Amino acid sequence: YPVIVWFRSDLRIHDNTALAAADRQGPVIAVFLRSLPHWQRHGHGANKLDFWGRGVAALGDSLSGLGIPLLHHDIDDFAEAPATLLDIARETGAAALHFNREYPVDELARDAAVIDAFAEAGLTATGHHDAVAFAPGELLTGKGDYYGVFTPFAKAWHRQLTSERIALHDTLPPQARRSITSNPLPELPELDDTPIDGRQWPAGEGPAADRLERFLRFRGRHYAEQRDFPAIRGTSELSPYLALGMISHRQCLQAVMAENDGALAEGDAGLTAWVNELVWREYYRHVAVGFPRVCRHRPFQRHTEQLAWRDDEAGFNAWCEGRTGYPIVDAAMRQLITTGWMHNRLRMVTAMFLSKHLLIDWRRGEAFFLRHLVDGEFCANNGGWQWAASTGTDAAPYFRIFNPTTQSIRFDPDGRFLAEWLPELAELPAKARHAPPKDLLGDVDYPPPIVDHRAARARALEAFKALNKD
Ligand code: FAD
Repeated sequence: YPVIVWFRSDLRIHDNTALAAADRQGPVIAVFLRSLPHWQRHGHGANKLDFWGRGVAALGDSLSGLGIPLLHHDIDDFAEAPATLLDIARETGAAALHFNREYPVDELARDAAVIDAFAEAGLTATGHHDAVAFAPGELLTGKGDYYGVFTPFAKAWHRQLTSERIALHDTLPPQARRSITSNPLPELPELDDTPIDGRQWPAGEGPAADRLERFLRFRGRHYAEQRDFPAIRGTSELSPYLALGMISHRQCLQAVMAENDGALAEGDAGLTAWVNELVWREYYRHVAVGFPRVCRHRPFQRHTEQLAWRDDEAGFNAWCEGRTGYPIVDAAMRQLITTGWMHNRLRMVTAMFLSKHLLIDWRRGEAFFLRHLVDGEFCANNGGWQWAASTGTDAAPYFRIFNPTTQSIRFDPDGRFLAEWLPELAELPAKARHAPPKDLLGDVDYPPPIVDHRAARARALEAFKALNKD
């Protein structure tokens, strides 16, 4: 009997747990269900949807090289997934389905419904833990709880990691061609936003593997010193590929070990710092499962539910459009809009600016990021926002509020990033770009700061102090 592999955010043929498991059982048929209305309701924007579409096309090509057909179906809602997949199983005579798990609460419910529907029909559907080294629930505190703090989680992760957990799956040999033929994914219909030029983010396993190789060869060993400087391409820029599974964390970790005498926690400081980021990625997935309220627009820190966020449409729009008068915030927001990606240091700076300086609900910023990011991924995005807003696990203490100008001077000392994204400030002396004085700006069209740092900081502290912690 043929076996179905349902691809979702694991768009690769190499080192794919569900695909390898299916191949052990029988000839494989691949399926991709596209539910644009569902993803749009979940806040994914054109950049991610376009990248997803191109990734599925690349996957289809790779699968075809293995003789595996890829069947696409458009559905309106993932509530239709069980019936659609059962229909495909009936039509193809498949007796089993495999997929790699996704961890936000709606995706878990969707997958549970598929498993139940298959069981009722006398078929099997199996979910695999592919995107993590440890399944959520496998790493718990001494008290048996999910970790609410990163460092002990990371220690446990390293302590309990075995080579089997990150061993690569074999790539499938080509299978005999069958009568079932692939049908191409329909073009992406016109969306509210136009996606950025796809050449910025070529989709597929090939481009992902190239990025990993170039990063490790040229930048990995300098990662610890360079990762915080947005003017330097010091990070891997692999996040869109990891988010949609065009590369696996195992492939990343194995490549690090090959460069680092087989070690992940010791050895080269740059490479081990990079591994730590991959552990953060896994941590936020465990958080989504262990504390599902974070998937329901709720803060991890319950006492922050009462926080008096401000209604400030003008402030929110200025932030979205990069017109806050704080050059580092504005440059970062323009990078996001133009490229679909933002440097990690600046995600922290801009998220803190919105949630602290403007005291605007972090959920509005979270949604705006998801709408624009090519790497938009619920767990990391929610984790990052709740960190910045001091509502999350292991969050920044509420009183530690980044001064955007100080951050700018520290992490873009020559004002190079500012000049790149705010060309109107490029003529100013580098030192003046961080907080352009009025008299130097002359006719330059650049707004004055929309809030005063000290006053805004005091306002945020007051709002947090007013919270009742009990
Ligand atoms: P590298 O520095 O090369 O790191 C390697 C990989 O580790 C990344 O590709 C990513 O998969 C993972 N990673 C790195 N930092 C983090 C982190 N803090 N949390 C979780 N995983 C991490 N990352 C996303 O993938 N999608 C998002 O939607 C997202 N939203 C964010 C929102 C905010 C407010 C903040 C503060 C961070 C967010 N991040 C998100 C995490 C991080 O900023 C990006 O993963 C990183 O900037 C991607 O660049 P890179 O691939 O060059 O990372």
